[in-house]
Amino acid sequence: MHVELVNTGSELMLGRVLNTHQQWLCRRLADLGHVVTRQVAIADVGNEIQQAVREALSRADLVITTGGLGPTSDDLTRELIAELLGKKLVENQAVRAHIENFFAQRNRPRPAKTSVETFVPEGALFFLNQHGTAPGLAMKIGDGVWRLASGESHTHGHSAPEPKSKTPAPKWLVMLPGPPRELRPMFDDAIVPLLKREFADAIFVCRTLRSTGIGESRVQEMIEADLQPLAKNGLEVGYCARPGAVDIRLTASGAGAEKMVRDGAAVVQQILGANLFGFDDDEIENVVVRLLTEKKKTLALAESCTGGNLAHRLTNVPGASAVFLGGVVSYANEAKEKFAGVRAETLRQHGAVSEAVATEMALGTRENFGSDFALAITGVAGPGGGTADKPVGTVFIALASAAGVAVEKRLNPWDRTTFKEVTTTQALERLRQLLLSA
Ligand code: ATP
Ligand code: MG
Repeated sequence: MHVELVNTGSELMLGRVLNTHQQWLCRRLADLGHVVTRQVAIADVGNEIQQAVREALSRADLVITTGGLGPTSDDLTRELIAELLGKKLVENQAVRAHIENFFAQRNRPRPAKTSVETFVPEGALFFLNQHGTAPGLAMKIGDGVWRLASGESHTHGHSAPEPKSKTPAPKWLVMLPGPPRELRPMFDDAIVPLLKREFADAIFVCRTLRSTGIGESRVQEMIEADLQPLAKNGLEVGYCARPGAVDIRLTASGAGAEKMVRDGAAVVQQILGANLFGFDDDEIENVVVRLLTEKKKTLALAESCTGGNLAHRLTNVPGASAVFLGGVVSYANEAKEKFAGVRAETLRQHGAVSEAVATEMALGTRENFGSDFALAITGVAGPGGGTADKPVGTVFIALASAAGVAVEKRLNPWDRTTFKEVTTTQALERLRQLLLSA
């Protein structure tokens, strides 16, 4: 299915207004499973608008125009499209009543110019504007009622002629008003149902389930067999390994797509359970901040080899200030002593990369900051510095809480950047699990 957008407005071309409809509509349509294939913006000039819509209709199954439905002299789209399609504009009583009511409710006289907005191309669907006056419009083209008035064959310059026996599938032309506060609710309330009805077969649903703590191939082994019956009916399963996380992507298209993806997600949730930390755009740091906020708990950090990456990730989350008190990057031994509460004796006896040091870092930091939780990380990021019993990638993650401290030893032998991502994800996951169990 091909979707094209035509954004009209001279103010767009003059750089006076940012074309936010492009991003907003593309995102909304993509969420509905329709990826926009082409988008143009053009000035409010008669033949430009007609030419752009004619071209878009020659390629796309759905064309959406924005802007130019208003009452002023530069609002030409409705007239131009009616002319392009060879349709008369007829006054619509429901639209007229709606506009009259709009002004009556606001105790304002109706400007005479708004009369043009009451005209609708003969036979078109119209959508009353809940936040303004000009209605949205939709026309099904090529079903025998609507056709381009003239010249439609010339736009196919290089493509082969349509086979005679096959009537081309009908296309939809949707016209939306320019102001975002009018366009957005109209799209959600009126156009989404239209698309669901008219393009049910083209609907494509995608859901990503995000897991951590299990490797990519193991994830596949665990869920594959149980997803098999759905996969046979068209559910597509994809895997995407990320540092410290594996995404499971479920996609389906057609009328039953929504249910199929929902059923698939339920199967994956059943099997992977607590290893799933979120959906789609969720990041584990967002989930942890959300859980801390819900439980009204605070967190402090002592990071050695991750160099502040954990603090960085947490502070990328809006609202982190409610739960994240702060952290130290205690890289040198002296800094671990001075700022993270590690005893010189412990460092001497066990070395900086050790369970004992991680433990003291977490306990000391929890005390220094007066937080509910403290995470501490110490390890060998490499490429140098590894030994036989502490090879490159060895890392200790300690989590202190009111219940005491728990330390986990991991081996993350990756490059330094990946090491930091993987290690901090593991630390966040420790805390997430504790928050879930509390
Ligand atoms: P009106 O009744 O307000 O004239 P209209 O349907 O004729 O509405 P336009 O005149 O093209 O629409 O645009 C009205 C206003 O909507 C513009 O001044 C602009 O602020 C906003 N607008 C229009 N197009 C866009 C766009 N592509 N992105 C963001 N804002 C837009
Ligand atoms: Mg206007």
